[in-house]
Amino acid sequence: MHVDLYEYQARELFAAHGVPVAAGRIADTPEEAVAAATELGFPAVVKAQVTIGGRGKAGGVKLVHSAQEARDAAKAILGMDIRGHTVERLMVAAGVQIASEQYFSILVDRTERRYLSLFSLRGGMDVEQLAATDPEAIIRTPIDPLTGLTEPAAQQIVRTAGGTEQIAAALAPAMVHLWEVFSQEDASLVEVNPMILDGSGAAVAIDAKVSLDGNAKFRHDWDFWRGAESQGLEARAKALGLNYVKLDGQVGVMGNGAGLVMSTLDLVAFAGKTTGITPANFLDIGGGASADKMAVSLGLVLSDPQVRCVYINVYGGITACDQVVDGILEALDRVDQATLKPIVLRLDGNKAEEGRALLARAQSPWVKSSATMEGGAADVVALASGENN
Ligand code: GDP
Ligand code: MN
Repeated sequence: MHVDLYEYQARELFAAHGVPVAAGRIADTPEEAVAAATELGFPAVVKAQVTIGGRGKAGGVKLVHSAQEARDAAKAILGMDIRGHTVERLMVAAGVQIASEQYFSILVDRTERRYLSLFSLRGGMDVEQLAATDPEAIIRTPIDPLTGLTEPAAQQIVRTAGGTEQIAAALAPAMVHLWEVFSQEDASLVEVNPMILDGSGAAVAIDAKVSLDGNAKFRHDWDFWRGAESQGLEARAKALGLNYVKLDGQVGVMGNGAGLVMSTLDLVAFAGKTTGITPANFLDIGGGASADKMAVSLGLVLSDPQVRCVYINVYGGITACDQVVDGILEALDRVDQATLKPIVLRLDGNKAEEGRALLARAQSPWVKSSATMEGGAADVVALASGENN
């Protein structure tokens, strides 16, 4: 399991390892935001704390110049929904004067089985977009785990990207400290976008993204872990014994067995390639698809406002398909009717025929049966993109 930290938590790790960050305070109410901004001085930045990027574009990052503006920004941002993540907490940071914006990240390159750093002089913008339109603007450099990232190597990265000696010298120490965050904290991702140079030419990380590798939890004293583990839908799922991961798309996906659900995610993403439809979540309901479990699972998936339709992919084993259909039909009665969305169901394995017959008899307007996994993925993507409505 990997845990995505909130910016204010990642920032704590940055600061502990010597990465320069702007002063910041947490605020849970508009009053606290005003107090924090007043203490830090104006201009200040009021920032939504959600574990997802693109907050700026969504209106979740606001530069404020007075107590009144701080209050207004905090009121607007608290409770805001950013692609399915509700803002419950703010960070107020000292406003920094931005002379230039750079991008820097360190990640695990699974294909090459090594650590990889990415750097660009064109920070601030969406890096996926940059990678698509201007891949040569991103310098990709492997990092040897034994030597790590040294200051000369970091300087070389910046120069390769076209940066001056001066910019390289200003950024390199911060980049080395970020490598220390990555390696010493057992992170699987450290990303700063943007890493800026301020008016005096000093580097400051004004955004912070860190994912920690849960396998290394035992050797750390991560006190924010508990907080990170109790995030919204994922926490509710965990409390219910379900294996749920929130994703960014529109199609709720659930099935029995992690492998099956993962292949289903792939098929949905593949079928949605041209229309931009992708999975909204991973949900493995595990064995025993009782009505209770189905109702809870379906309710959970449907409570994500981004979900337009749901793909349930079941391979009947010990729990036979007709029992699963029973569970789904009962779940349909139990979940909040106002939240119901069209469902595509694919059944295979033990008693699949019986399951489909049961479904046909029930004549639910909500459930469409698909014979194959691929067919189901195509059907659900068509539903999500509005082709069938
Ligand atoms: P993201 O949109 O989720 O990546 O959030 P960021 O923390 O990167 O903030 C979005 C944008 O707000 C940045 O790219 C900056 O352009 C701007 N921003 C954030 N902090 C400051 C600041 O202290 N001063 C100024 N002038 N702009 C800021
Ligand atoms: Mn950012």
